[in-house]
Amino acid sequence: MPGFELFGDAEKQQVKDVLDSGVLMRYGFDGMRNGHWKAAELEKALAERMKVNHAQVVSSGTAALTIALVSAGVGAGDEVIMPTFTFVASFESIMALGAVPILVDIDDTLTLCPEAVEKAITGRTKVVMPVHMCGSMADLKTLKSICDKHDLLLLEDACQAIGGTYEGKPLGSYGDLGCFSFDYVKTITCGEGGAIITNNQEYHKNADHYSDHGHDHVGSDRGAETHPFLGYNYRISELNAAVGLAQIKRLDEFLSIQKRNYTILRSALENIPELVFRKVPQGGEESYAFLSFFLPNEDTAKIVHKNLGDGGVDGCFYWYDNNWHYYRKWEHLINLKSLGKLPQAIYNQLPDYGASDFSRSDHWVGRTISCLIKLGWGEEEVHERAEKIAEIIKKAFDQ
Ligand SMILES: *Cc1c(COP(=O)(O)O)cnc(C)c1O
Repeated sequence: MPGFELFGDAEKQQVKDVLDSGVLMRYGFDGMRNGHWKAAELEKALAERMKVNHAQVVSSGTAALTIALVSAGVGAGDEVIMPTFTFVASFESIMALGAVPILVDIDDTLTLCPEAVEKAITGRTKVVMPVHMCGSMADLKTLKSICDKHDLLLLEDACQAIGGTYEGKPLGSYGDLGCFSFDYVKTITCGEGGAIITNNQEYHKNADHYSDHGHDHVGSDRGAETHPFLGYNYRISELNAAVGLAQIKRLDEFLSIQKRNYTILRSALENIPELVFRKVPQGGEESYAFLSFFLPNEDTAKIVHKNLGDGGVDGCFYWYDNNWHYYRKWEHLINLKSLGKLPQAIYNQLPDYGASDFSRSDHWVGRTISCLIKLGWGEEEVHERAEKIAEIIKKAFDQ
């Protein structure tokens, strides 16, 4: 991450195509657009790369999550199981539908703990939403068997792990539905954008209509299209899609750079006996977007994180104290601070997260440091960086 580091001629040419025709919208204006359909081409490229039948590109990753849920019939009062360690988009996308986010613990994969998931299932549960945080994945096989047993949907949030695989399948394609973000800091970017992938034709049709006001997209006259159900506007613009189209073609190049840089960093840290690396489930291959490891305790993690910052090593995160990615700082969710009234089901059903026990998550996240893997680093630079990080960590154990 992030793809913007390597913007070049390919991105410029794609955007120029769109500006030259002047058609910034993904639908209609057939005669003016010089044959350019950037959003549609991006969908085709994405579906091919992810080995699925369908892809729908939309305005953001958050929108993609909401659309994925609604396309499978999730609505008010339905419960969606999600992890305590994720981005705020997880609960936002659920609550946008009046559905209820049920937070559960993570384990040493830094993603959903299957045992905790099973315990949280009620008669109202509809979906299990693992979030493949920081370039690696949840134990999808176990989660899938839980979903099958309880007749639940498996929706993968692969926004931070595009290009990773599980049992040879691209992340996002293993569950019933998968989502990606192409926001500005993701491995491939559109500036702003996101996508839903699925092999389910019905879900795809629903996603296609819902993201464009419920338009059925039949024929070539937008005004004559019917709307079989209510929708919303979550369209991506052709300008954003054009950037993404250039970037998806570079995904494998980006992944190999990430892997190279990750491997250099990891090799330098591997001989520090006190460090334990984040667990990657068997059968999984990371996207190498981050390198995450556990320190022996919270105090050491805090010291190492501070010393990394003071030592000029940027891009290392201590999520435990982070405003955006861990439940402890989601004060707006815990206290349901909204501008207007929320759907009644949320008031009735949302657990009291101020009183919840997530000590199992704290046990892991309190000791975790994640280092972002950048694409723009040269090899020499990564080696220097690796040595510096190793030195700072070792020093913490000498004291
Ligand atoms: C970035 C991200 C999102 C949301 O994507 P946007 O495109 O920024 O809306 C959702 N989930 C995770 C895990 C993310 O990292």
